[in-house]
Amino acid sequence: MATKRVTLAEGDGIGPEISPVVVAILEAAGADIEFERIDVGERVYLAGQTSGIAPETWETLRRNKVLLKGPITTPQGGGYKSLNVTIRKTLGLYANVRPCVSYHPVIQTRHPKMDLVIVRENEEDLYAGIEHQQTRQVVQCLKLISQPGSERIIRYAFEYARRNNREKVACFVKDNIMKLTDGLFHRIFNEVDLEYPEIPGSHWIVDIGAARLADTPEIFDVIVLPNLYGDIMSDIAAQITGSVGLGGSANIGDECSMFEAIHGSAPTIAGQDIANPSGMLLGAVMMLTHIGQPDVATRVHNAWLKTLEDGVHTLDIYRDGTSKQRVGTQAFGKAVIERLGERPTILTPVDYGAGAQAIQTDSTHPAPPRSVKETVGIDVFLDWEDGLPADLGAALEPCAGEDFTLKMITNRGVKVWPDGYPETFCTDHWRCRFMAANGVTDHDRIVKLLGRIGAAGFDFIKTEHLCTFDGVPGYSKGQGE
Ligand code: NAD
Repeated sequence: MATKRVTLAEGDGIGPEISPVVVAILEAAGADIEFERIDVGERVYLAGQTSGIAPETWETLRRNKVLLKGPITTPQGGGYKSLNVTIRKTLGLYANVRPCVSYHPVIQTRHPKMDLVIVRENEEDLYAGIEHQQTRQVVQCLKLISQPGSERIIRYAFEYARRNNREKVACFVKDNIMKLTDGLFHRIFNEVDLEYPEIPGSHWIVDIGAARLADTPEIFDVIVLPNLYGDIMSDIAAQITGSVGLGGSANIGDECSMFEAIHGSAPTIAGQDIANPSGMLLGAVMMLTHIGQPDVATRVHNAWLKTLEDGVHTLDIYRDGTSKQRVGTQAFGKAVIERLGERPTILTPVDYGAGAQAIQTDSTHPAPPRSVKETVGIDVFLDWEDGLPADLGAALEPCAGEDFTLKMITNRGVKVWPDGYPETFCTDHWRCRFMAANGVTDHDRIVKLLGRIGAAGFDFIKTEHLCTFDGVPGYSKGQGE
């Protein structure tokens, strides 16, 4: 097989210390890789690129397709965009995979039997980053969940479970509240689950799922989540293994992939030779399986486990009693290299068979048959602070004309007109629901409705069409509707 070219970004803070150690271990283990170095992150930000990456660097990333990345510092303020989010979205790295494993009794943890993998959707949800200030009092962030985006990540989670001999997949969402967005994710989970009869799927409301994850993580195996829940849950899971400094993660797309540590650039300990290189090393192990070098991955991972087991620990995991030798970053790397070819005897050795190679899900999976879509009304959002809900209802009703009926007004989702309660707290942000008088409406009538609302002196700041798909309403009801 030809030598694999991999892009290497050393990163910021502790990055320039841990990256060479990781590269040295891979080289000593016989990885057939040629690294091409790029400069991204702090220096590039401070040189005036608010994205943290120079335009020409994208070509290297796209050509090599695989990136091993040290942690990046995002400078505070100044409009700097997170480079991690930019790379994930630009290169279509839709799956974020984080194994979270306890190393009991070698590393102290309250959860000795924990061994789970978080599969987090990486591109959608509230991280689409579409935010607006709509009134003086109210700001909004759009939560976008798509059918293909959900299907891709859920299929990836089941496929990961199948190829890595994992027994079950759990899905965490909050669809008792967000029935459309999280409800879609849950529904697709149920559908994909049917295609993997040997891997039972379970569904958890995210709050109780999170509580159980923090309390009894050993009941979980693979967990698949939308972006925000996945972000939070994966840090909790990593932390309770014993140290966030031990976790590696993979960001996988159809074409490209990126491997890194879970932790950040730890600037306060940079330059002191005390950082633990393990997180980035385990990210590199995931990379080795992804690029088809599972034997090297096995050798590196087992040597690393043996090093931990021998009590050779960096400061962050050093504990009297379980640790034997406190070492710096460089010495830890040397200790791993010395143990290449050895296997742990207390901790469970790993063996990456051929099955652990790159997982490609079929993102061209056929979309569901086209449904019949009808527009049955419109929610018009107003910036208004001139009185009580009853005043607004009375002033707005005539705007409905013959084509629409003003059905309700809500404030922060709670119905305040008709028949609201005076106790309900109201802001300056009102959602006014107009339903089509004849059941179905069109753009022309909607534009005329907005014309009448504007002419009556109202400041409409956004609209949402109310549509049915095959007769099923594609919008939520107001609380109290
Ligand atoms: P951090 O992960 O850098 O540090 C959190 C704590 O963990 C600190 O006490 C740190 O000393 C310790 N720590 C982290 N990694 C360690 C290691 N390998 N060995 C020993 N101790 C370690 O998180 P932070 O302080 O919130 O963020 C610092 C910077 O990193 C910020 O600029 C942030 O934006 C960035 N960051 C980058 C990534 C990434 O590149 N993937 C992820 C998270 C944070």
